[in-house]
Formats: sequence, C-alpha cells, structure tokens
Amino acid sequence: MKEIVPTPPPLVHNAHAEIRDLFARYVVPSYGRFDLALSHGSGSEVWDVSGRRYLDLGGGIAVCSLGHANSEITEALVEQSRKLVHVSNLYYQAPQGNLAERLVRLIGPGRVFFCNSGAEANEGLYKAARKFGHDEGRFEILTAWNSFHGRTLGGISATGQEKVKKGFEPLVPGFRHIPFNDLAAATEAISPATVAILIEGIQGEGGITPATAEYLLGLRRLCDERRLLLLVDGVQCGHFRSGEFQSFQRILSGVPGAEGFLPDGIAMAKSLGGGFPMGAFWLRETAHGVRFGEILGPGTHGTTYGGTPLGCAVALRILDVVERDGLAAHVRATGDWLHGRLEALVREFPTVARGARGLGFMQGIELQPREGIPGMAGSDKAPSMQAVLRLHEAGVLTIPSGNQIVRLLPALNIRRTELEEGVERIAAVLRSFA
Ligand SMILES: *Cc1c(COP(=O)(O)O)cnc(C)c1O
Repeated sequence: MKEIVPTPPPLVHNAHAEIRDLFARYVVPSYGRFDLALSHGSGSEVWDVSGRRYLDLGGGIAVCSLGHANSEITEALVEQSRKLVHVSNLYYQAPQGNLAERLVRLIGPGRVFFCNSGAEANEGLYKAARKFGHDEGRFEILTAWNSFHGRTLGGISATGQEKVKKGFEPLVPGFRHIPFNDLAAATEAISPATVAILIEGIQGEGGITPATAEYLLGLRRLCDERRLLLLVDGVQCGHFRSGEFQSFQRILSGVPGAEGFLPDGIAMAKSLGGGFPMGAFWLRETAHGVRFGEILGPGTHGTTYGGTPLGCAVALRILDVVERDGLAAHVRATGDWLHGRLEALVREFPTVARGARGLGFMQGIELQPREGIPGMAGSDKAPSMQAVLRLHEAGVLTIPSGNQIVRLLPALNIRRTELEEGVERIAAVLRSFA
C-alpha cells in the first residue's frame, strides 16, 4: 500500500527553487549568478526568500549609495512620480537643470549630459573625443590594461581585458591599451591619431587599484602638451566612494601642484541614482581653447530616457542626504579605519591574504595564490570565489574581482558597527581557510 501513496508536497514551498527555475527557463544566461534569491532589504541588511539575513558589503556593486529601501529615496520617487515621471528631452524641466548644476558645482566648470548607464556615459565621452579630434583626423583613445568600461561594443573595445572582447570581434576601431600607472608607457603609446586617454581613477573590476597622484598629474601634463583629452571613468570610483565626489579629488588632496586639476571629461553612473538606473557625463567648459562643454551640439547625441524628472529627483535627494549627513567625511574616516582593519587581517592570516588595497568605501582584500592557501587547495575555484561563497555562509555579501581579490563596496551610509560585524565575519572566514 505504502508504495503507491504519493509523497505529500513539502509544507514550505520552495520559493528559491521556483525563482531559480524561472531564470533557468526564461532569462538569457549571460551572468554567473550566486545561488541566492533575495527578497527585501533595509539599509545595509538584505534578506533572502527563506528569511536568512545578510550584511550587504557589496552595495549592489557600488550602486546602492544609501543602502536598501531608503525611505528618503522612496519619498523622492513618490513625490516626483505624482508630478512628472517622463517628458522626453524635447522640453525643459527643473530637476534635470538642478542636478546638472549640482554636479558642475561638485566637479568644476562644465556641462552635463544624462543617460542611463555607465557604458552609455563612456560612449558619450568617446563621441565627444571623436568630435574634438575629427577635423584633424584624430580618433584614437588610449585606455588601461585591466580597465573596465562597460559591455556595449564600444565598451568592450575600450576595456583592457581580453575576456570581455572574446567572440565579439570585430571590435570598434580606435582603442589601444597601455599599462596603468605607467606614465612613460602612455607617453610612448601616443600616435598621430591619438585624441584622448581614458582611465578609471580607481580600477574597480580590475582589482581595486587607485591611480597614483604622480600618474594623474603626469597624464594631465602630457595631455596639455600633446593636445589630448584626459577622460576619467568615475562610474564605480565616483560619487563619494573614495570620500570625495570624484576619486581624483581624494587622491590629489593636499598634493603640491594639484591645485585646479581637472580632467576634460568624466563618466558617472552606479551610485548616482542609488539603484535608479542613471548615468551622466561631465564635459569641461573649455579644453585646449575649444568650448568642449558645447562640442555635442543640437542633434549630435541623445537618449530617450536621459535625465528624466524622476531619475533626477532621486539623484538630487541622494546628494542632499550625502551633504546633510556628512557622508563624505564619514567615508573618509570610516574608510581609513576599515582599511586599517583589513591590513590587520592580512597580518593575522598571512597564508590566506597578502594585501589590502583601496580608498574610502572601495576596498579590496588580495588573497594568496590558491595552491598556497591550506583550506583552498582542494577546490579548483578561484580564491576570490571560494572566499565570497564562504562569506555567504557567514551571512555577508561581498564581490569577487578577478581571481584574487574580494571587493567591499558598501553603502555610503553604512554604520561603523555594521562594518565591525562584517570585519569579524571576514576574519572568521579567513581563519577557516588558514
Ligand atoms: C560598472 C562599470 C561600467 C559599466 O556601467 P554599466 O552601468 O554596467 O553600463 C563602466 N565603467 C566602470 C568603471 C564600471 O565599474
């Protein structure tokens, strides 16, 4: 008898498996996803569909600048959506003008174009650079090895990592890569066709590598001498992540000879909208005697959704909160403290970790090669992946960067007590591998 009675359905239905199944059937499998299905969050805490809590030190990859379910972002969304969500760029509206003014005040004299993502912000910089060099036959943009600039065709052409290009050739012509933080190599690479140099202020996907002050100042000098544009991809390292609005402002703070330093263009996205999809690029008012801020005249560039009243209202509210709550100073002080704590972990577990790197709330722990780590040698997964997975078990979300680095990109308003909890759990995980 017993054998023919079907087993009853489980009492708790498995929401996690159901969601995973939908993805397996219907979503383009372009992402390697972790086996976690998240349902809701609050600040720097997030819960999965079975009710398990995680401390979020990944911040949605440097996007959730005010954490999850921030009530002031909700308020801005609700208030603005009652007035206007979208009107197109055929008309004027106050939020876009106000946000452009705020960004110019945070950077320097110039103009802002609004778009929807980081890759798109960089695309705008490529177009502005090509327009600048067009009549002289210059079009080539030098970018760094290990850089990341997005997944569009232009983005993968600009990105200095073979793995993003593979299988999508032919690439967009006019990009060449140079070693990062190597001024001599940049000088040597310039050809008669070169028009611009594009770098991240702190390389993110490439493993949390800040540009040095000498490199930034040297590139500025080089670009001035050779009539090139200096472009900065601030998509990940911008928006106060370093403790200043742009990472070059933090890197160059107090450095002799850095007064008045400005690049000619800056790409922004990620934290700008706090999770609302938004990108922007800033162009310097004048570059090499040209009114560069006005180089993209009527009809030369556009995007339907760019700078909607809704997105701009959210971005403005985030800037208000950052300013009101002194979050830039919080990121500087707490980021320095966090960096010190990570360095202490490296000293405590030298067989597992070999370095801490980064600025502000863009920090990385560099792990040893897999073969040397006692608790990792048995698996063929990269050390960064093994550490991130074990951190999930310990209730902490972090982000792998390449094979060796675990990235921390927490919300700008995360509390020091929360980071303290995170550091303790990271310590326990490093200990488990030692
Ligand atoms: C994430 C990122 C991009 C791409 O941004 P998307 O919004 O994914 O298009 C570009 N540059 C850097 C430095 C990034 O970190």
